[in-house]
Amino acid sequence: AKAEGRSTFRFFTAQMQQRSAARLKLEAELRRALDKRELQLYYQPQCNMQGQLVGVEALLRWMHPELGVVAPVEFIPLAEESGLIVPIGMWVLQEAIEQMRDWRERGIRVPAVAVNLSALQFRQPLLVEQISRLLHEAALPAECLELELTESVVLEDPDDALGLMERLHNLGVRLAIDDFGTGYSSLNYLRRFPVDRLKIDRSFVQDLEQGRGIAIVRAIVSLAHSLGFVTIAEGVETPAQLAQLRRLRCDEVQGFLFARPMALLPFEAWLQRHHMV
Ligand code: C2E
Ligand code: CA
Ligand code: CA
Ligand code: CA
Repeated sequence: AKAEGRSTFRFFTAQMQQRSAARLKLEAELRRALDKRELQLYYQPQCNMQGQLVGVEALLRWMHPELGVVAPVEFIPLAEESGLIVPIGMWVLQEAIEQMRDWRERGIRVPAVAVNLSALQFRQPLLVEQISRLLHEAALPAECLELELTESVVLEDPDDALGLMERLHNLGVRLAIDDFGTGYSSLNYLRRFPVDRLKIDRSFVQDLEQGRGIAIVRAIVSLAHSLGFVTIAEGVETPAQLAQLRRLRCDEVQGFLFARPMALLPFEAWLQRHHMV
């Protein structure tokens, strides 16, 4: 039994070493991915109930030379743990703003780009100045940029977050609460925070087939509207979900039913095909 215990132990350490070696390799590769231009933004349209384009969400992809397209679930956690999310997140902001400027110059009217911010990025002391400078350099009105924050990002340090959000809002940048309803708390900070939009989490949209799901979305929409927020439902996949969201007076929708996140060129082709711009 003793020998068995030892070999099990050896087995686990070997496995752990392997796993952390793989992690370290991926982390080293991610560190170089920025310089090697392996990161790309995909764009997913956001539409109102009249079918008009109201914005796009920028979603990060890693074009890995061997692994192919790596989804954010595979590397954002690693980027957050290693702190790499700070330079990567700054690149995302730069790239999204630069792309908006390019569309403007070419007469392609994408109203706004939404960028996801992670907690570590949100706590960078110069974030507001950097965003302000990027918008200024691109000569873009601040309303062109929306920042998506999850409840946990905001609630990690609510007083700090409130101050930051007020400064961003004063710039004119729009703020959205992402994955709304999946975090803890929810209601108390909503009264105080300068939020423009609530993104209803995909899990609630999926539950729209049942009575309880409908009741929850109805409550979220009515709460949001009474506080003056726009509601956008994410992860809309079926016409039935869309019809239900319309009945519940949800303002905007995003999801595979309309389009998947697309690389730049397919996204621009999609805009043309749908006469969006
Ligand atoms: P998120 O911000 O909640 O983004 C929405 C996710 O839902 C995206 O996954 C999108 O592709 C997916 N999605 C959109 N419509 C549908 C649908 O109809 N059905 C289903 N099943 N999924 C749909 P993605 O692109 O894999 O991103 C996953 C998460 O990674 C994002 O969740 C966000 O938290 C994070 N992320 C992505 N890009 C960035 C970034 O630039 N910075 C940071 N900090 N996080 C990012
Ligand atoms: Ca998001
Ligand atoms: Ca979301
Ligand atoms: Ca999410």
